[in-house]
Amino acid sequence: MTTLIDRIGKTDKEDAAPVRGAARHPEKRHRPDSPVLRKPDWIRVKAPTSQGYAETRAIVKEHKLATVCEEAGCPNIGECWTKKHATFMILGEICTRACAFCNVRTGLPEGLDADEPRRVGEAVARMGLAHVVITSVDRDDLPDGGAQHFVETIQAIRAAAPATSIEILTPDFLRKPGALETVIDAAPDVFNHNIETVPRLYLSIRPGARYYHSLRLLEQVKARDPKQFTKSGLMVGLGETRDEVMQVMDDMRSAGIDFITIGQYLQPTPKHAPVARFVDPEEFAGYAAIARAKGFLMVAASPLTRSSYHADADFAQLRAARAQSLAAA
Ligand code: SF4
Repeated sequence: MTTLIDRIGKTDKEDAAPVRGAARHPEKRHRPDSPVLRKPDWIRVKAPTSQGYAETRAIVKEHKLATVCEEAGCPNIGECWTKKHATFMILGEICTRACAFCNVRTGLPEGLDADEPRRVGEAVARMGLAHVVITSVDRDDLPDGGAQHFVETIQAIRAAAPATSIEILTPDFLRKPGALETVIDAAPDVFNHNIETVPRLYLSIRPGARYYHSLRLLEQVKARDPKQFTKSGLMVGLGETRDEVMQVMDDMRSAGIDFITIGQYLQPTPKHAPVARFVDPEEFAGYAAIARAKGFLMVAASPLTRSSYHADADFAQLRAARAQSLAAA
């Protein structure tokens, strides 16, 4: 799964002493701290205080669900939850990978919660969502990587909220034969899997993953079910060069990816990878223009862009862009 993060310290679920990255990420405990750069003005967001935020929070708690919005400390939570847009995180709250950018807790996960799909469906119906995004932790410990649980969640949402379009943001199902096909065949509307960074940085930023495997995953989605929109995201500010970003865009287009998201990496704790630099809004606009020229159906690129940011409005635009391109063909 992919998450960009923006919180130093505890989450709601931690009432122990300050963690500064160590308690949630035991594998990072002995790493030296990296200095956390001061955020520029264009990254700053308001604290969440709205009535809509409180209502979303109540529904999430009532259904005993996890969200990546909270677990990753997403800076957009105030805006998104005010509009009742939450991205549910299934398969537990503990991830079996140890990516250097991600604030989701790492370690040995617990067993599967068989009732979780039903509760997700019920929450989606309660929130009256036109479009929902479902993501998960990585579950390398499960024989199918959690593929069947994704399927059951998609089915439960369809049953409870048939008009809601479904976007999934999946792990890479590395070394889980048949898992990807199982999920594709559940026919989500959007299949999202994040490339995250340029291939040169995989070893330090995403050591458990393989760049070409992630690309190939998205290519396979398109080959098996061309109706599904494919989507992928990239973080910038990790030390990549502009040429490397261009190359990733070309690779994504070669894999038939419809929608690219590009956002600023934010360092969640001093134990995580440092921000190499803050990419300014004009440079994001430049990336967006280049991505459009390269043929993506849809592009979202800004400092606060995240995989699921404005996903509902973007899905409507994505559909319109496909219809327009088919009409022009
Ligand atoms: S951008 Fe995505 S992860 Fe962040 S708050 Fe919005 S829905 Fe949640």
